Order: sequence, then structure tokens, then C-alpha cells
Amino acid sequence: GGQLRLIPLPEFVRRKDTIMKTTQELKELLYKNKTVADQQPDAIAEANAFCEGYKAFLNAAKTEREAAAYSEQLLKQAGYKPFVPGMALNAGDKVYLINRSKCVLAATIGERSMAEGFHLNIAHIDSPRLDLRPVPLFEKDGLAYFRTHYYGGIRKYQWVTIPLELHGVAVLRDGKSVAIHIGGEEDDPQFIINDLLPHLGREQGKKPLNEAIPSESLNVLLGGRPIADEDCSDRFKLGVMQYLNEKYGMTEEDLISAEIEVVPAGKARDIGFDRSFIASYGHDDRVCAYAELAGIFDAVSPKKTAVCIFADKEEIGSEGVSGMLSQAFEWFMGDMCRTQGVALTDCFANSFCLSADVTAAYDPNFADVYDKRNSSFVNYGVALCKYTGSGGKGGASDASAEVVGKVRKLMNDNGVFWQMAEMGKTDAGGGGTVAKFMAQRNIDTLDAGVPVLSMHAPYETVAKLDCYMTYKCMKTIFEQA
Ligand code: MN
Ligand code: MN
Repeated sequence: GGQLRLIPLPEFVRRKDTIMKTTQELKELLYKNKTVADQQPDAIAEANAFCEGYKAFLNAAKTEREAAAYSEQLLKQAGYKPFVPGMALNAGDKVYLINRSKCVLAATIGERSMAEGFHLNIAHIDSPRLDLRPVPLFEKDGLAYFRTHYYGGIRKYQWVTIPLELHGVAVLRDGKSVAIHIGGEEDDPQFIINDLLPHLGREQGKKPLNEAIPSESLNVLLGGRPIADEDCSDRFKLGVMQYLNEKYGMTEEDLISAEIEVVPAGKARDIGFDRSFIASYGHDDRVCAYAELAGIFDAVSPKKTAVCIFADKEEIGSEGVSGMLSQAFEWFMGDMCRTQGVALTDCFANSFCLSADVTAAYDPNFADVYDKRNSSFVNYGVALCKYTGSGGKGGASDASAEVVGKVRKLMNDNGVFWQMAEMGKTDAGGGGTVAKFMAQRNIDTLDAGVPVLSMHAPYETVAKLDCYMTYKCMKTIFEQA
């Protein structure tokens, strides 16, 4: 007794009729990647039309607060009602919650019990930028500046000598909150960070790219005209405060309780003679957020409850009360589950999440850092990523073959053109998304999103067909059985 033996599995029998012989038949065995335009030419017109709404979203939403506010308007317009904890929820009901003005959670209640899980799509609406320091205002040698502290992964040299705007909110000493928005209107002033002229840049030019512009020199030029009283000190600072006081009722101390973001000026623009691309600030990750929103609006009677989330703080590790590590997520989801007497943990165990975030598009000008066969290409459709992370998959949630297989089949069955992508060569670097934080919650998760050229630059480039396929991907996820 005590002997443990494996029972042999039934022998695999190869079916004779599936053996291929001709070259043409054999070629069918290979994985091929084709542009969306080659596979579905009529998608071009649909993508162009879809992207007009996306460009309007980009222009209205240069910060997470603005993206949340604009999304709330779109949600209301589409019939979504503010979520009230404990409210009765029936199939077809549409609810939303804005967490601290920075994070959007919206749900279309499905026909099935929440015990069978949700279909989640999660994008983020924060983008790399320059934040003002708490005490930002200073003057030096006749010029007034704001000191900045960069947010997220930026290449500092890209942020000098481009026009900038100030967007944000200040909570004044009386507790009132004022929205700050300077630089976006035609007759507004704008701002700039200056750089050295080439004539005197000999030493600077020898420095490595990442060291040539140190953080301490990312100071935003605000003005250079002193107030009239020649005997007064701080005359240039006072010139700035005079403007802020007139327009917003602010004192310098009010800047301490302000969140003012320095963002690139200008609007989203079509790029190329064929207008196949859009350049804009903040594609990462408002491109997936917009696709999600359009996807949940257009999803036809979702079987499982469809949940669309726009998170904040992804660019700095998903921390904070409005990031995906926050219990605000459990609070919203738990409340929805309670209305049906369902345990949140049971719901999570049966849920599926698409971590909707952009990925690096292959750039022929920098071919060295990519593994071409494992890269995403602009105009080839939505990019699925089995894993992100860096080095030996450090920090990746690494979706299983079963999850990748399920999504791949779902996309193929629903005419969504997709490609599989890693970010680049293993030793070149890496990055992360919210995927691992969803997987930690016992939710099967896969990364998917739009390939981006010059990701994290003040102006990023995406292809319209990829935006459109990402929308179709989101819609399909929400509609799946
Ligand atoms: Mn991102
Ligand atoms: Mn990013």
C-alpha cells in the first residue's frame, strides 16, 4: 500500500485532416501582424469620427480634476446618476461616483448577480507634469519665478522653452476653493522655462541628457516688471501677487494650500499629411479613459455589471486616497455588492479587469531599444501586454495563459484588431501599471491600451485607428458574457 501513481493521460491523437502540406497552407501557421487599415479599410472613417470627440476631451482635460469634471458632464448626459450608498440597483441602472474630484467610478448594472463578478476597465487620468512647490514664488535678479516639483517620469530637458499653462485649485484662508486656469484662453498670458543659448552651452552640452537640466532649474518665468514703489523690496514677487490677488483673491500663503499644475499649452492636433495621428499632452492615459467611457456608454445590455474607473496617482505608484491602492475602490464596489447581499470577496474572485493603459510604440528612429517582434506598432490596433515591469518581470502581475487566451479569443471573435506587446528590450528599462494592484485583489487582470510615440513627453503621439480599436476592445470587454 501507500504507493502513489499517476494514471496515464489518454494519448493525443492528431487529426489527419488538419495536417497542412502546401507552402500556402504552411504559411497560415505563422503569426502575422497587419495594419488595421489593411484589415478593415472602413475603420478609417469610423476612427476619424471617434477621435473628434477624443480631441475635445483632451482639450478640456489637462489635469485629473478637469478630466473628472468633464467625464462627470458626459456621464450625466448619458443618463448616469450619482451613486448613493445603499440605493437599490437593478439591471440597466447607471450610477457614478467622483472620488475627491480626481477619480471616476461609473457602473452599468448587469443582468446577472454581482456574485458572478464585474467586468472592470481601469484607466488613469493623471499625467506627468510639473507641480508647484508649496512655497513656490521667488524673485531673482529682476525676474519672478515659480519653483516646481516634477510629478511622474519626465525627461526634464523636454520641458524647457515650450509654452506652459497653469491649471489647478487653491483653497483660500477662508476655506473657499477657487479654480485656477491661466494660459488656455486666446488672450491669456502663458509661461515658460528658459534654457541656455547654444553660444554659452559648451559645458552644459557635455552633460548626460538626464543631467543637463537639473530639477532645481525647472523654474517657471512669471514676470519681470516691478511694482512702482522703488523703495520697496520684493517688487517683482509683488507684481505676481498683485495679479493673483486681483484675479483670485489670493495671498502668498494661499499657494500653500493650492494644487497648481504646470502643463503644456496648446491643443490636440492632427499630425501627418494623412492625419492618421494625434499629438497632444496627456494621451497617457486619457486616451484609454476616453475609450473606456465611450465603451461603457455604447455597451449593449451588459450581462455582468460593467465598471469604468479613471484612477489618479498612477504615475507615482497608485498611492494616495484617489489612487488604485486606495480603499475608496473597495468602498464603492462593496456598497454596490451589499445592495444585492453579495460579499465583495466573492465578487472579486469572479471578476475580470482590463488595466487600460498606454504602452511604448516601436519607433524606427530608436530601433535599438525595442525587440521588434515583441513590440507594438502605431496603426496596428490595441496592444495587449501579458506583463509589464522591469528586469526579470519585477513588479509585473504577469497574466496567465488562460487570461491572455480568453481575451485574445474575445477580440478575434468580435473584430477587434489587436497586437501583443512588451515595452522594449529587457535591459532597456521598464514600467508598471495598476494591473498588479487589481491582481492582488484576486481579480484576473490583463494590460491593454494604445501604443504611444514619445510617451511622457509634453506632446505625445498616438494613431487614430489604435484609439478606435481600444474603444472597441473596452466595449467588447463590457459586453462579454
Ligand atoms: Mn499610463
Ligand atoms: Mn505613464
